[in-house]
Amino acid sequence: MPMYCPVCLSETLKITSSGVINLAINGKQMDTGRYLFSIPEQVKGELRTNLRKKVEEFFRWLGGFQNKAPITEFLLFTSNVACTKGCKVPMGSKFTVVGIIYTEKEVAELIEEMGKKHNIQIDLG
Ligand SMILES: [Zn+2]
Repeated sequence: MPMYCPVCLSETLKITSSGVINLAINGKQMDTGRYLFSIPEQVKGELRTNLRKKVEEFFRWLGGFQNKAPITEFLLFTSNVACTKGCKVPMGSKFTVVGIIYTEKEVAELIEEMGKKHNIQIDLG
């Protein structure tokens, strides 16, 4: 999946070889809802294990609320990117890693599984 640089608008944006992945659900973030990635040192299995752990923690937390709101927004993003043309990408810009580090399918399946497990409705349009 191409990533567009917000400065030069070319498909020249790449995720850096290491950094932080953040998880946000329904606009909420947890202090612990982030983890380090390192490519290619971390194999696919390790990246997947880390994602699963963080999503599980998040769903367990959301599942403890009195009023369980359905999941309407699920963001998995990083700010650790670089444009190969050398643009200065604004700090704090968020770029999804779904379709890049993780496939859309594996993320969708994980959300579905965790929703069932923690009895939270998934309504991601
Ligand atoms: Zn650029």
